[in-house]
Amino acid sequence: MKNTYNNILELVGDTPLIKLNKIAEDIPGDAYAKVEAFNPGHSTKDRTAKYIIEQAEKEGILKPGSTIVETTSGNTGFSVAMISIVKGYQCILAVSDKTKADKIAYLKALGAEVYVCPANVPADDPRSYYEVAKRIHEETPNSIYINQYFNKKNIDAHYHGTGREIWEQTEGQITHLIAPSGTGGTISGVARYLKEQNPNVKIIGVDAYGSIIKKYHETGEVDKNEIYPYRIEGLGKNLVPGATDFDIIDKFIKVTDEDAAYMAREIALKEGMMCGYTSGAAMQALKQIKTEIPADALTVVIFPDHGSRYISKIYSDAWMEEQGFTNYPTPSSKIHKIQ
Ligand code: PMP
Repeated sequence: MKNTYNNILELVGDTPLIKLNKIAEDIPGDAYAKVEAFNPGHSTKDRTAKYIIEQAEKEGILKPGSTIVETTSGNTGFSVAMISIVKGYQCILAVSDKTKADKIAYLKALGAEVYVCPANVPADDPRSYYEVAKRIHEETPNSIYINQYFNKKNIDAHYHGTGREIWEQTEGQITHLIAPSGTGGTISGVARYLKEQNPNVKIIGVDAYGSIIKKYHETGEVDKNEIYPYRIEGLGKNLVPGATDFDIIDKFIKVTDEDAAYMAREIALKEGMMCGYTSGAAMQALKQIKTEIPADALTVVIFPDHGSRYISKIYSDAWMEEQGFTNYPTPSSKIHKIQ
């Protein structure tokens, strides 16, 4: 039989590299997107979760019926839930009470048990989602805590997967990599693989205004003044993630919530590609450094997830107006209502 799989997890990884055409007309050389939405859980986090879980299986920690714990309401939660169903584990996710109901419904639909914890308590409070996850993990035999921000296997997942794939897909011709950085697992793993093959590949991380990452990379200082709320979900952080290898990243670029949202919408209108908010941020970062890109460059931009997750955010005109983001690109098509 052709194109058949034993289960959905066999489709994790081997995502396509897709040329960016109209959106990249002003970028020197060629630019391609590594479109991680082609993973079955529609994000790059399928790789991280699957790798960490399968390493624990190899180490004999996880057995049928074991429990996997993580603190996230984002893409990692969706991936852990999907993998737990297929492999027969119990998935427990501790999330903050700021988490939107539709995300909790998504996790529940995939069989996850969700602990909704108060957001307005310190991280070391026993009710915080970090402490709840830690406690459940400690109390549950044969359980693992994914702990994506501090787990070095997060980097290994992308070293063996995403990084190797990009090198092979570009036949070693990649010159620049642009990747949004949250836990830093993706950029660090990819950078490690690429720099081992060719130390001249430039690695550029994408950070948010409101995050400490860029300044920490440049100065080694955690500047609390850099921390304030921002809207892009999945990149930037208010602490130093142990899963980021800062030494192999050449530089970080900050993008605004507003520019990243406009860029995601422009990608949809110019490339027909519905991508997530951080994909817009990564493309925007490339635009901001385009004068540094040589004419013979081959740039790869990581697009971490799918736009369907953001329909009521960046793809909603009402949401954009509420944020004061009024200069968004508008399609020439209109909605016609027949009365
Ligand atoms: N974009 C999105 C949408 C994500 O969910 C994540 C993961 N937090 C990232 C970017 C960043 O990836 P990483 O954690 O590997 O740095």
